[in-house]
Amino acid sequence: MPSYTAPTKDQQFVLHEVLNVSNAGIPGYEDLDRDTTGAILEESAKIAEQVMAPLNVVGDQQGCKLENGIVRTPDGFKAAFDEVRAGGWTALDCDPEYGGQGLPYLIATAVGEQFSAANIAFNMYAGLTHGAYSAIHAHGTDAQKATYLPKMVNCDWTGTMNLTEPHCGTDLGLMRTKAVPQDDGTYKISGQKIFISAGDHDLSENVIHLVLAKIPGGPEGIKGVSLFIVPKFIVKDDGSLGDRNSVSVGKIEKKMGINGNSTCVLDYDDATGFLLGDLHKGMRAMFTMMNEARLGVGLQGFAQAEVAYQNAVAYANDRLQGRDVTGIKNPDGPADPLIVHPDIRRNLMDQKSFIEGGRAFIYWGAQMLDQSHRNNDKDINGLVSLLTPVIKGYLSDKGFDYAVAAQQVYGGHGFIEEWGMSQFARDARITMIYEGANGVQALDLVGRKLATDGGKHVMAFFDLVKSFCKENGEDDTLADIVGPLKDASKDLQAAGMYFMQNGMKNPNNALAGSYDFMHMFGLVCLGLMWGRMAKAATQKLAEGTDDAAFYETKLATARYYMARQLPMTGTHLRRIESGGDTVMALAADQF
Ligand SMILES: Cc1cc2nc3c(=O)[nH]c(=O)nc-3n(C[C@H](O)[C@H](O)[C@H](O)COP(=O)(O)OP(=O)(O)OC[C@H]3O[C@@H](n4cnc5c(N)ncnc54)[C@H](O)[C@@H]3O)c2cc1C
Repeated sequence: MPSYTAPTKDQQFVLHEVLNVSNAGIPGYEDLDRDTTGAILEESAKIAEQVMAPLNVVGDQQGCKLENGIVRTPDGFKAAFDEVRAGGWTALDCDPEYGGQGLPYLIATAVGEQFSAANIAFNMYAGLTHGAYSAIHAHGTDAQKATYLPKMVNCDWTGTMNLTEPHCGTDLGLMRTKAVPQDDGTYKISGQKIFISAGDHDLSENVIHLVLAKIPGGPEGIKGVSLFIVPKFIVKDDGSLGDRNSVSVGKIEKKMGINGNSTCVLDYDDATGFLLGDLHKGMRAMFTMMNEARLGVGLQGFAQAEVAYQNAVAYANDRLQGRDVTGIKNPDGPADPLIVHPDIRRNLMDQKSFIEGGRAFIYWGAQMLDQSHRNNDKDINGLVSLLTPVIKGYLSDKGFDYAVAAQQVYGGHGFIEEWGMSQFARDARITMIYEGANGVQALDLVGRKLATDGGKHVMAFFDLVKSFCKENGEDDTLADIVGPLKDASKDLQAAGMYFMQNGMKNPNNALAGSYDFMHMFGLVCLGLMWGRMAKAATQKLAEGTDDAAFYETKLATARYYMARQLPMTGTHLRRIESGGDTVMALAADQF
């Protein structure tokens, strides 16, 4: 049975020694001293380790069931959900006006890392609710906010996001669900939505569906889409629950992972809906929270790698196979533990350097989101928007890859369900798909974000890397960090230049390289993070610390990343510079 231990020390290192949160100049951050964040993370760790993690395998094995129209979640989910709600864990960064705690999004992200690693499927019920909460908060009327938000903040009522239909997921302009206006100002919603996470269940009194639909006669395509609130139970004027709305669960999808989350087909049959935000501006309303939602999915993917890694390390120390080629390490035993072998080390170092770099990258992204909202900083908003597809796409791709790599440490046992390693890989897989499949993230990055505001934000990113390298170039202890970072950043710039020079001639030259570009961007971002972490560690060691081993480990991992991971930008660059011709050479019937 796998286990999870929240990495609070590493989390605190990023918050305080890398991001220096309490001096970041962001309103609300001044209260985030080490003791405060430590107290929050220690408490959330208890929930993650003791309440959520034990239900991870249960959720996977039992899945959700549809019985006489009612969706049942796995054993123990309801009691655990009540405990999480009662502890205020769903309300961390919600608006105090509606019962939230008003903490920065960064703190919700750090807690979310623990919760997603412990049990991603369980945590999605609150996660989807938070998305719906944010949409109503940003676009609702005062009356809508007063009706729904206080109940959604603590998940008395949960939420869903309904975009996907059988014939459209990426291309939502093809949507068919319709909303017919009624004389009383409401709408009748009809159509079918599929793959709706947390679509229905027995965890809350009401489910507030946010549904995209088209009003007949409105503009064609994506411009004719509006957003509606469609509650499972209509809320009466006094706030109590009234009639059951005509939305029903057609089925629960059987799927590869996240089985503890109810992924539903929802049938709307003249259901009563209430317009949320402006008419025909549904996509804009749905995507207001896109940066947060995508960062959240990157976090989920990365978190699966983290929990898988922890278990792989334990197994590598425990399992005895073969002998150390440089000399026996366990003379009293029949063999040495797996961890002596260089190839196992290579695998674990790949995982470790990704996980710690990825954590810093996501937290940095979350901090920038706070900065952009709380300081109304447009430049930072531009930078985090540029990096959002990288956070989502790169971290979820690699989160899956490293969950598989951790499985490999177990050999055949990794393939056997009893050991639990397959679940991490299966659960991580969805993060590459939903909230915009990763190929589409790469398109967004290259097709839209690079050129936004005349390329100002990508230049700002390169300036950050350049100034880091300049400031630290003279420091001998960081020489093997700064040099590779500089080289990788040059590769990334060269790829951007290639797109500028060749993408206009033929867009295939840019789009055939977009996936490589997203990955090389991710590599450089983690490179910058490792640079910052190495610098923090060097400073601490120079000051003197009684925890030198911790900081030396950071430096050694940074060096590994720079030597063994970051140079992969060169391969990506060569692939990009080979252009689109070889990619597009075959006719469709030649595949
Ligand atoms: C378990 C699960 C939970 C989900 N939860 C929700 C939810 O809560 N709410 C919701 O609304 N949806 C949800 N989804 C749907 C999910 O967001 C979509 O599956 C996803 O957006 C992709 O859409 P699609 O499946 O229709 O694939 P398609 O749009 O058909 O895409 C198929 C492939 O083609 C690629 N592709 C598409 N267009 C292009 C293009 N122009 N250029 C290059 N490549 C392209 C995509 O990257 C993808 O790899 C969920 C899905 C699953 C499986």
